[in-house]
Amino acid sequence: MSPHPPTASRRLVAETDVRATPRGGRLDIPQDALVTPLARQVALERNITLRERRTAPALQRTDIRGEIVRVGQLMHQKGFIVASDGNISVRLGADRVLATPSGRHKGFLRPDELITTDMDGRPINPPPGLEPTSEMPMHLEIYRQRPQVAAVVHAHLPLAVALSIAGIRLDEPFLPEAVITLGPIPTTEYAIPSSLENVTAIRDLIGQHDAIVLRRHGAITVGSDPFDAYMRMEAVEHKAHIVLLLRLLGQGEPLSSGQVASLLELRRRLGLGPAT
Ligand SMILES: [Zn+2]
Repeated sequence: MSPHPPTASRRLVAETDVRATPRGGRLDIPQDALVTPLARQVALERNITLRERRTAPALQRTDIRGEIVRVGQLMHQKGFIVASDGNISVRLGADRVLATPSGRHKGFLRPDELITTDMDGRPINPPPGLEPTSEMPMHLEIYRQRPQVAAVVHAHLPLAVALSIAGIRLDEPFLPEAVITLGPIPTTEYAIPSSLENVTAIRDLIGQHDAIVLRRHGAITVGSDPFDAYMRMEAVEHKAHIVLLLRLLGQGEPLSSGQVASLLELRRRLGLGPAT
C-alpha cells in the first residue's frame, strides 16, 4: 500500500500528500481538513486541483466569543474602526447568530457583551441594556444567501471610504494576490448606514463577492471564521492604500485581461472563490 494514498485521510493535508498526486490531477481533501501553505504552493506548481469541503457553516469552537473580541481589538488597533463603529457576527447554528452589541466600542468589548439572535435578528436572553448591532439585517442577508459563510465583519476603512467618496473603485486588477484572494471588489450605491438600504445595496453583490465596499461608509467581508473575514478586511484596505499611491504617482497600469484570466483560474483551482 502506498504511504501516500491519492486521497488524503488526515485532518492536516501536507506537501507529501500533494506530491503523491499525479501532476494535473485532483486531490480530494477530507471534510474540514487544513491544507498547509506549502501543500497549496506545491499543488499550484504541479497543476493539482485541491477539492476542499467544509461541513457545517456553524462554528463549534468554544472560544468563539474570544475570537470576536480579538477581531474587534485588531480592527481598532489598525484604525479600521473608531468609537462605536463596526460590527462582527458569527453563525452559531441553523437559527442562531452571535453578534456584537450596538453602541459599544468594539476595541474594548467583553465576551459577555455579545448577543445571540435568531435568523430574524431577535435577541435571545441579551445582556441587560444591550441590543444587537444595528447592521444586523445586512449580516442576516449574507447568512441567508451564503450558507457556507460562518462570519461577517464590517468596518469603516478610512482609505477605502475616501476612495469611494472620490469615485475611485477597487475593482481594477492591480495586485495579483488581491485578484487571487479577493477577486474584484465591488462598490455599492450609497445607502444610509444602519438602515435597510444597506441590505438592498449588497443584495445583488454578496452572492459573488467576499468583500464589498459600502460607498461613503465602509466595507463588509465574509469568511469561515471571524479572523478569516478580518483578513479580507485588511486586504481591502491594503489594496485601497496601493490604489491611492498609484493615483498620487499618476501612473501604473492594471494587469492585462490575459493575466487576470490566469489569476482567476488559479483562484478557482485553489477553491478561493465565494463558497455558496
Ligand atoms: Zn458602519
